[in-house]
Amino acid sequence: MIVTRFAPSPTGLLHVGNIRTALHAWLLARKHGGRFMLRIDDTDAERSREEYVDAIRADLSWLGLEPDGEERQSARLAIYEDAFARLREAGRVYRCYETAQELDLKRKVLLGRGLPPIYDRAGLSLTEADHARLAADGAVPHWRFLLDHAETIEWIDGVRGPQHFDPAQLSDPVIRRANGSWLYMLPSAIDDAEMAVTDVLRGEDHVSNTAVQIQMFTALFAAGFGATRTLPRFAHTALLVGTEGKLSKRLGSLSAGALREAGIEPAALVALLARLGTSLPVEPIADRARLIDTFDLATFGRAPARFDEAELARINHALVHQLPFAEVAGRLPHGMDERGWLAIRPNLEKVEDAADWWAIVTGPVDPAPFDAEDRPYLAEATRLLKWSDDPWHTLTGALRDATGRKGKALILPLRRALTGKDHGPDMAQLLPLIGESEARVRLSRAAAGD
Ligand code: GLU
Repeated sequence: MIVTRFAPSPTGLLHVGNIRTALHAWLLARKHGGRFMLRIDDTDAERSREEYVDAIRADLSWLGLEPDGEERQSARLAIYEDAFARLREAGRVYRCYETAQELDLKRKVLLGRGLPPIYDRAGLSLTEADHARLAADGAVPHWRFLLDHAETIEWIDGVRGPQHFDPAQLSDPVIRRANGSWLYMLPSAIDDAEMAVTDVLRGEDHVSNTAVQIQMFTALFAAGFGATRTLPRFAHTALLVGTEGKLSKRLGSLSAGALREAGIEPAALVALLARLGTSLPVEPIADRARLIDTFDLATFGRAPARFDEAELARINHALVHQLPFAEVAGRLPHGMDERGWLAIRPNLEKVEDAADWWAIVTGPVDPAPFDAEDRPYLAEATRLLKWSDDPWHTLTGALRDATGRKGKALILPLRRALTGKDHGPDMAQLLPLIGESEARVRLSRAAAGD
């Protein structure tokens, strides 16, 4: 059973980058009939907000990426405490007292000597007497995880291939603050182990976290933790960049809500983000099953994936033209039925613009005045208007015969008189929606120059 998870910290709104991560996890789970979990990483009580938790749920639901279950780290603190106690027993965590300034200074000294800024493990050599003296002075320790330098870290990354890290080249990570709160790293490994997550998919900014977390998993398993005692598979996707080549501020601030307000359909975002950075073509695919079937980590490249808003707009445009009535009915103006949607849909860039066209169907319209040549022509049109299954072609056919007009001269005055516009949906579909009596009123008014 494949289990994936999306683990956002509720400290802000979801943006295209983390939506993409969520989508990958969802696609992989769906492809294998597995479970897709939402895990709210809210151990940072100061920065986590309930409104962001709600926004994350709402955004996932808007995107159609419903999780099969939800967990919150803030509800699991007792589990972390237990795991921590076992790791402490096993000697895999230790107390440190350096302030941020002291650590910064240590880093600068090492860098100045041309050495990598790795933590010197000063805390590890403190004796119990040292700790007691520090405690008596009012010092409160924070905690680091002790990496095992003898155990090299290797994994086959689903996107990046074989990965190899020398733990001696990494700092022992701080896992717990002096006030007892948790940093993200250890709770995440505990949860992935406990929830039997089989596949961790995330951005490549987490590669070095994975190296450290692999040792955490091993230490947790040795301490009797974990549902299956098997490491998950890891895959780190290349980051998204904006069209100008770097991770632009704009990209980071493109929230799901902002995109929704701009008229972007969830299907468009999903179609683009499912394929971006892969060797598969980005296409306006509305059918989720097709995106699921073709999703394959082996198609992902290692180069940064370029997110282009213009490409999103193109896909959105193409997808709006495919949306079935049932999917948009709730967002259409009152009275607009399937026939109306199908007539107007090919003309839309956004579903919300349907309201403007529907207002033209229901009227009133306000065309610019017609010249002396077109007024009698429109009077003729009023006379010749005859209702049928296809009133538009009946009318234009009769007008062609009666006046000899063709092309634009035949069509444009009619379109203007009936809709107030020079362009728009197919008149053969629009005219039946306007209806006979209203069409007659519009034509005769235009003819009279009202
Ligand atoms: N809360 C972490 C983040 O948002 C989770 C990363 C992960 O393990 O997927 O960066």
